[in-house]
Amino acid sequence: MNADYVIVGSGLTGAVIARKLCDAGRSVVVVDRRSHRGGNVHDHVHASGVRIHTYGPHYFRTNDDEIWDFVNRFSPFDTYEACIKSFVDSRHENWPIAGSYIRRAIGADWQPVFRGTPANFEEASLAMMPRPIYEKFVKGYSEKQWGVPATALSADLARRFDVREDDEPRLCRHRYQGIPSLGYAGLMQKMLHDIPVVLDCDYLQNRGEFAYRRKLIFTGPIDEFFGFDLGRLRYRGQRREHTYLPDVEFAQPCGQVNFPDPASGPHIRQMEWKHMMPAASQCSVRGTVLTREITADPISPNDYEYPFPDRANAELYARYRKRADANPKLLLCGRLGEYKYYDMDQAIARALVLAGRILTIDDAHETIIQARTA
Ligand SMILES: Cc1cc2nc3c(=O)[nH]c(=O)nc-3n(C[C@H](O)[C@H](O)[C@H](O)COP(=O)(O)OP(=O)(O)OC[C@H]3O[C@@H](n4cnc5c(N)ncnc54)[C@H](O)[C@@H]3O)c2cc1C
Repeated sequence: MNADYVIVGSGLTGAVIARKLCDAGRSVVVVDRRSHRGGNVHDHVHASGVRIHTYGPHYFRTNDDEIWDFVNRFSPFDTYEACIKSFVDSRHENWPIAGSYIRRAIGADWQPVFRGTPANFEEASLAMMPRPIYEKFVKGYSEKQWGVPATALSADLARRFDVREDDEPRLCRHRYQGIPSLGYAGLMQKMLHDIPVVLDCDYLQNRGEFAYRRKLIFTGPIDEFFGFDLGRLRYRGQRREHTYLPDVEFAQPCGQVNFPDPASGPHIRQMEWKHMMPAASQCSVRGTVLTREITADPISPNDYEYPFPDRANAELYARYRKRADANPKLLLCGRLGEYKYYDMDQAIARALVLAGRILTIDDAHETIIQARTA
């Protein structure tokens, strides 16, 4: 197959770039080695009628009108503002941590422990809260998630949570929050509806089948693209265990419960998907489905989920990046191509910028060719 652009990966990054290039009249072919479109945001429906996010819970949120309008082109959204609880001392407590909890547990005049510039994740967390709170809510969860002591993790990771003085129970405060009414699978199907997509095909094993006139856009793992020849980047992945309870209406108080205590088991969190469905759809479901996530070092690149937040991997990535940037006919991007955790709205925003740059370069190229032939 040949096209102006071959795009490897039908996840949000590849699909948004494909959509924008196609809208601008470019020919595009998308290749994915999975058997479905949508990459990591894919979802499916359990026999009970419960919709499950195949690769872990995906809560869409954005403050940006352009991104909200863009995703609503493909599916309306049902409002869903995620509320998460942490199971601590046999009680469901708010996550992120509520100021009222710290006042109850420690006293009204509590102080964070660490002062100065944090050198690692533990110090960055202790800059926000007293040590006993850190140990109950944060340390165990993070060490289960990453499989290393919290002192070995980057301080930047602590930017992903806060302590809520106002006890706001919602995980996020964004203006727009929801889950696509058609499911993520339906949204991605619509985004790519008129674009050729080749599924069940690993591009790296079948390069000869695809020719591009302008650029190869690759959204898979950057180290795999280069045959791991500088070494392997580290990732964390998750094993998921599903349990169907046919005779239980709801088993937990909200869609996601975190389990920070190492004594509670190897899982870091448990989802109850029914909470994420609109009330009208919940009524037609018999029972409920729970999913536990247990993190591990993945072997197959297909199971890579989180880039590892430490300096050694950041440095290795920078070496691969330099090599990728030296090839003007190659764009390596997305969460795996840039070895960077992007929320969905950030992945879309980045893809819109990249597509805009590609089209600007194309237009400049056309102008030069026209000037030469005039
Ligand atoms: C567990 C988890 C939970 C998350 N929850 C949220 C959330 O609640 N809210 C939020 O905003 N964001 C969330 N995210 C982030 C969200 O998943 C990403 O923003 C999004 O997946 C980025 O899309 P992408 O296209 O860059 O990558 P992907 O979705 O991973 O797409 C890459 C695609 O490339 C394909 N591919 C790779 N290599 C090849 C190859 N050689 N040949 C062919 N195909 C190939 C893969 O099969 C895949 O389909 C979560 C992420 C994870 C890991």
